[in-house]
Amino acid sequence: MRLIVVGSGIVGAACAYAASGLGAQVTLVDAAEPGQATAAGAGIICPWTASVEDSAWYDFACAAARHYPPLIAALAEVGEGDVSYRQVGALLLAGQDGQEQEDQLGQAQLEQAARRLIARRTAAPEIGDVRVLTGAEARQLFPPLRPGQPAVHIAGAARVDGRRLAAALIRAAARQGTTMRTGTARLVCREGHGSDAGQRSDAGQRADTGQRADAGERADAGQRADAGQRADTGQRADTGERADTGQGTEGGHGIQGIRVGRGVRVTGVRVDGDLIEADAVVVAAGAWTARLLEPVGITVHVVPQRGQIAHIGLGAADTSRWPVVLPSATGHYLLAFDDSRVVAGATREAGSGFDPRVTAAGLAEVLANALEVAPGLGAGTLLETRVGLRPAGPDVRPLLGPVGDGLVVATGLGASGLTMGPYAGAIAARCALGLLQDIELEPFNPLR
Ligand SMILES: Cc1cc2nc3c(=O)[nH]c(=O)nc-3n(C[C@H](O)[C@H](O)[C@H](O)COP(=O)(O)OP(=O)(O)OC[C@H]3O[C@@H](n4cnc5c(N)ncnc54)[C@H](O)[C@@H]3O)c2cc1C
Repeated sequence: MRLIVVGSGIVGAACAYAASGLGAQVTLVDAAEPGQATAAGAGIICPWTASVEDSAWYDFACAAARHYPPLIAALAEVGEGDVSYRQVGALLLAGQDGQEQEDQLGQAQLEQAARRLIARRTAAPEIGDVRVLTGAEARQLFPPLRPGQPAVHIAGAARVDGRRLAAALIRAAARQGTTMRTGTARLVCREGHGSDAGQRSDAGQRADTGQRADAGERADAGQRADAGQRADTGQRADTGERADTGQGTEGGHGIQGIRVGRGVRVTGVRVDGDLIEADAVVVAAGAWTARLLEPVGITVHVVPQRGQIAHIGLGAADTSRWPVVLPSATGHYLLAFDDSRVVAGATREAGSGFDPRVTAAGLAEVLANALEVAPGLGAGTLLETRVGLRPAGPDVRPLLGPVGDGLVVATGLGASGLTMGPYAGAIAARCALGLLQDIELEPFNPLR
């Protein structure tokens, strides 16, 4: 099975690693776009505090957090033991940002949050120990904190450096035979697969036949081609039928104006003039995914959401076990890595477009929020500000599953992509290889 994975952020890297581990011959293509989200991401893994009420998202995120420890262990076994993943715990602060918290309201909020987490722990034991700490106890764990901020401590929360994890996954995938290719991929497809069998595109705009037929009426295989069912049956409807139908066309050229939707049949990608053929393609191109799919008539609703995040050096302080800090009022946060580094994030700039710049306002927002919660960071050194374009979908749920023959989309992970990326990548790999999934993919239909 020849598989192309487009995009080597956390999703594509995890997909290439999983697919090559399952025996596929994988080519991983990346355009090195400025603003890759994975390289900028903070790396907090703590989905259980989310106020999101979408149960499909929550269950997916919990499964993704659970996916981490065995993945980290598997990477360590192949010599990739240093990916910066650590369960450092998290401090959830009360919601009254800017005020002394050791008052009754703050305390009541924290106790309510703790009760909610303990209730969630039945289904997600990885949440670990949950305890309300005094302000003094919280500062012992994260010394730069402003005094007087009690917190809920969540032992199971973890952090990981997305850059290091993605790089480790790519190296491990390479050892399993994955080939890496740098350049901008364009999809190569045959439009018209199944036209003789009375199939139609979603939009019913097949210029060549004008025929209509639902995806459920695949006369050639008698099987539904949609996400859930393909995954459930574990069968590829088109096995052995690839080389013989239709005329080859390329995204953006041969099929302009024709919306082929699910009727599209992808046969590979073109990278800088080179054609790379494959049995399946996984598009894990983050915020750029819609651009890649649009020329072949597939619309996915994913847009860039800029995030700016500041890295602060604290001299010789041992920050290696400092917990993640989650001030519940603002959506901003702090976390630390081993090299005396505290990371303060992040802006969430909807409508930013593809504009991965550090802005004066963005940096000011991030630093102001960080110093409000943790004034002790004020004397630190501003080491760098990173910028990433989060792939933001139409809602919080990932866009994950097949969208055409031999074509799988894996993106839309938004602000939780480092939590969910390794799991989403592994699911995309199984999907592309036509293997059974242990989850129902319909809620994640990329065409919703
Ligand atoms: C500031 C910030 C903080 C964050 N913090 C957290 C956090 O604490 N916890 C969490 O869980 N998540 C966090 N996230 C979210 C997370 O980083 C993203 O959701 C995740 O990294 C997205 O990964 P991806 O692989 O989908 O996309 P990306 O990492 O953006 O990768 C997409 C890749 O596709 C490539 N590409 C695009 N088009 C093409 C093409 N035509 N051909 C070839 N290659 C192409 C690009 O070059 C890029 O490398 C944060 C994000 C940001 C920006």
